[in-house]
Amino acid sequence: MRIVLATRNPHKLAELHRILVACGLGDVDLLSVDSYPGLPEVRETGDSFEANARLKARAVRDFTGEIAIADDSGLAVDALNGMPGIFSARWSGDLAPPEQRDWTNLRLVLAQLADVPEERRGARFVCAAVAAFPDGREFVAHGEVRGRITRQPRGSNGFGYDPIFELPEGRTTAELDPAEKDAISHRGKALRILVERIAEALRPTEPA
Ligand code: IMP
Repeated sequence: MRIVLATRNPHKLAELHRILVACGLGDVDLLSVDSYPGLPEVRETGDSFEANARLKARAVRDFTGEIAIADDSGLAVDALNGMPGIFSARWSGDLAPPEQRDWTNLRLVLAQLADVPEERRGARFVCAAVAAFPDGREFVAHGEVRGRITRQPRGSNGFGYDPIFELPEGRTTAELDPAEKDAISHRGKALRILVERIAEALRPTEPA
C-alpha cells in the first residue's frame, strides 16, 4: 500500500515514517510529492488549518490516486488573538527574501509583543492533519502544544518560531533535539492520532 505526503520537506517525511513504523504500518510505501512531477502547487486559501490541510490532501489524492496525508500548522499567540495563525509562514509578507523570512516573521512577533507583560505572553503551536482516501473517506486530527513567547530568541535547532517559543519546562523548542521535539510537538501529536485512525480504517473487519 502507498501513502503520499503532501510536502517537499524531507524532515516531515522522515517524521511520518517513524510514526507509521510505531503504529505498525512500517511496510507502507511512503512517498513525498517530489515523486509526482507535474503536481500543481496548491494555494492555501482556506480559513483554518484544517481547511488548508484538506485542500492539500484532496489535491494530492486526486492527482496521485493514492491515500494522501497533508498537514498545516502555525503559531497562535494569545495577545494577538490567535494570530499569526494560518498566516504564520508569511506573517511579515514579502518584506524579506524567502531565506530570511523565518527570522523576519519571528522579529515581527517579538516587536508586536514588546509591551506585553510576562503573564500575557501565552501561545500555542497548532497543527491539523488530514488523510484523504481514493474512495472519498477523510480523517482529520488536531494537535497542539502550549508555551509562551520569550523576549529574545534562544536555541539553534528547529525552524520558524522555535527560538521564541518557550515550553513550561523552560527551554525553547529550538533548544530541543529533533527526537525530543517530535515527542511533544503539535505535528507529532496530530500525525500520531491520524495514523492510528488510518491503521484502524485499513484493518480487515472480522467476518460476522
Ligand atoms: P507549515 O504548516 O509547515 O507550512 O508551517 C507554517 C508556518 O508555521 C511555518 O513556516 C512556521 O513559521 C510556523 N511553524 C509551524 N510549525 C512550527 C514549528 O514546529 N516550529 C516553528 N514554527 C512552526
